[in-house]
Amino acid sequence: MVYPRSSRIRAIAPQPPRPPAELCASCLEDFSSVRAFDRHRVGCHDVLWSIERKDGRRCLDADEMRAAGMALGARGRWEIAAEAERARERFAA
Ligand SMILES: [Zn+2]
Repeated sequence: MVYPRSSRIRAIAPQPPRPPAELCASCLEDFSSVRAFDRHRVGCHDVLWSIERKDGRRCLDADEMRAAGMALGARGRWEIAAEAERARERFAA
């Protein structure tokens, strides 16, 4: 199959870096939405996490985010897997 010239150029050209959507200043992960960002932050708001205060505020790690229904999207941003799938289905229709 022969693609239009502009599509071929886009496919091989280096992509410019994307600005972060919802960058976390603590763990430096990027999120596709505020909802996804909020899901990865857990614990009491007024307490920092520490060995002594395991109920303190912290970021979920990658395994915990996956267990919480999140996935790393194609753009390198964490997203809520079910919401992202519904959005892809809506746009594909
Ligand atoms: Zn974080």
